[in-house]
Amino acid sequence: MARKTSRRAKAAPRRAAGRAGRKTPRRTAQGLRKAQAGTAADVKGPRKRVIADAKAALGAVPQMTSAEIEEAFRRLQAALPEPKGELEYINPFTLLVAVVLSAQATDAGVNKATPALFAVADTPEKMVALGEARVRDYIKTIGLFNTKAKNVVALSKLLLEQHGGEVPRTREALEALPGVGRKTANVVLNIAFGEPTIAVDTHIFRVGNRTGMAPGKTPFEVEMKLEQVVPDKYKRHAHHWLILHGRYVCLARRPSCEKCVIADLCKWPGKTVPH
Ligand code: SF4
Repeated sequence: MARKTSRRAKAAPRRAAGRAGRKTPRRTAQGLRKAQAGTAADVKGPRKRVIADAKAALGAVPQMTSAEIEEAFRRLQAALPEPKGELEYINPFTLLVAVVLSAQATDAGVNKATPALFAVADTPEKMVALGEARVRDYIKTIGLFNTKAKNVVALSKLLLEQHGGEVPRTREALEALPGVGRKTANVVLNIAFGEPTIAVDTHIFRVGNRTGMAPGKTPFEVEMKLEQVVPDKYKRHAHHWLILHGRYVCLARRPSCEKCVIADLCKWPGKTVPH
């Protein structure tokens, strides 16, 4: 007996051929167009939010206007007039060490280990005298502790040899130290020396892209954009406002848009409040 073929089964090869022949899947292209026009439907669920984040980093979220950025920082400042970083430190040297230790680790995790370390080594001389093996013992609860112990002792030696035991105040000199990249240098320049630098970590990258404040495919692109668009009067604390916003409100998996002070300005189609 001849078996009946369902309409769905007949259409499957045509659908597959259509998909294979197209460079960009139609749905993705439509989604991008809608997101760029700011008319994308709300996206729901963690997986779709990850996709919305990826699209945002590709420029799919409309750029915030200068007036909106000014207003966003006015509100962030009003909510937290004197924002502070959460890493514990005693002086510029211990700040530098804490930031080096915080790479791919949480501030809370670093803060658990550093009080004991800084009690015995709060200067480059003491850190060198302590030696790599003992530094490793103090920081063994922090990820990548082997490499970090090596870097902390090596950078302490370099500070003694080339900078008279002081933490240098220029990006070039900071970035020449072992374990210190652009982000670490920016944090030290901002917190220790009051420079208006913005260190783009995973939180600021997400917030910059989601809101439409500073879209960029890489942390460096987001940093450059923020340098252009953040009004001068807010630059000194912009780093802290954005990082704390990303850490406590604009969370990666489930942003708390309902308590976000800039929700009406935010352009992200994944936000969980009405557009
Ligand atoms: S509205 Fe939501 S997605 Fe937009 S910045 Fe606020 S918390 Fe983040």
